[in-house]
Amino acid sequence: MMKRKRSFDTLAIHAGQEPDPMTGAIMTPIYATSTYAQPELGVNTGYEYARVSNPTRTALETNLAALEGGEHAVAFASGMAAVSALMGLFSAGDHVVVSDNVYGGVYRAFEAIFRRFGLDFGWTGTSDLGALEAAIRPSTRLVYIETPTNPVMTVTDIAAASEIAHRHHIPLLVDNTFMTPVFQRPLELGADVVLHSTTKYLNGHSDSLGGVLVTNDAGMAEGLRFVHKTTGGLISPFECFLVLRGTKTLAVRMRQHEKNGRAVAEFLSERGQVQKTYYPGLRSHPGHEVHARQSSGFGAMVAFDLGSFEAARRFLNALEIFTLAESLGGVESLACHPASMTHAAVPKELRDALGVTEGLVRLSVGIEDAADLLADLGQALAAARC
Ligand SMILES: *Cc1c(COP(=O)(O)O)cnc(C)c1O
Repeated sequence: MMKRKRSFDTLAIHAGQEPDPMTGAIMTPIYATSTYAQPELGVNTGYEYARVSNPTRTALETNLAALEGGEHAVAFASGMAAVSALMGLFSAGDHVVVSDNVYGGVYRAFEAIFRRFGLDFGWTGTSDLGALEAAIRPSTRLVYIETPTNPVMTVTDIAAASEIAHRHHIPLLVDNTFMTPVFQRPLELGADVVLHSTTKYLNGHSDSLGGVLVTNDAGMAEGLRFVHKTTGGLISPFECFLVLRGTKTLAVRMRQHEKNGRAVAEFLSERGQVQKTYYPGLRSHPGHEVHARQSSGFGAMVAFDLGSFEAARRFLNALEIFTLAESLGGVESLACHPASMTHAAVPKELRDALGVTEGLVRLSVGIEDAADLLADLGQALAAARC
């Protein structure tokens, strides 16, 4: 009989997580060790030194590869450690085409550090496929997109972007942190490598930092493992354990996140006081159609514009359930002010062009009761008005 292909919800709980061969422990142990005994000279167990490999990390990498539908995953100390390791594949003179409103930390790393090493970055509005193609040069080695982008939810067509990149023999990276593989599977749409900050939804409980790159390209995986073991930006076994605990409930959490995200986006978009609501699930959103085609959900990141810094300040200070904090993707609802928090490193002219105005507020909608969340937003909007 043909073996049934396991579905996502089952893989999330079982992929990479065999009971411990020695004790039968159901949960993968936290292998807190820096080195491994070698049975005899020239023979090892497959594990030699913890910068190179660790069984808890192997379990996490196997699990995350399965969730993205990839062959290889390499897990890092943070999303930014993953991005930095990726840059280790390139050399001075190489060029990367990047979505122009990616995660603020990526902008900072590329411009403040990697440009000094001779890499060049072409910041491009990649939702415009013509602009994406025009940005490609003979020296381009990677197309790097985030969709939807943080915080104004600009959508790029992943399949079309991969077609363009591949026509020029360039790999495509997709930062899939916001959607997670529950809603969006970039490798199946033609992308070559997927990035996650596991700090966000994959871990899901705001209690660990991590990153991962997933790919089907064996050569790229080998290159990433080489940079990983050489530069050492790796995730601790304890944090691997936390992310593995997180991915077990990823599917159910994402369904609830999205239900609440939709409710919040609809609520805000109906308020006259709110000048603009950014959520790919709203029909009015410019990326709605492309997003609906390439993803099976809209997520729980919502941004909206209150028109002025003062209104945003009053709103944020009045919130009671939503907590004022950077980051996203945890079970609890958070609110932040991108212009002064997550995107402070992006120059003001670029921020304005991207819609990251002084009045913009970003919400990471959690999995609390939706009615409680709407009541909190309602009272904070009233406070913002006076
Ligand atoms: C947080 C985040 C990152 C960076 O990840 P860290 O784990 O904070 O280093 C990259 N991309 C996106 C979309 C993020 O939200």
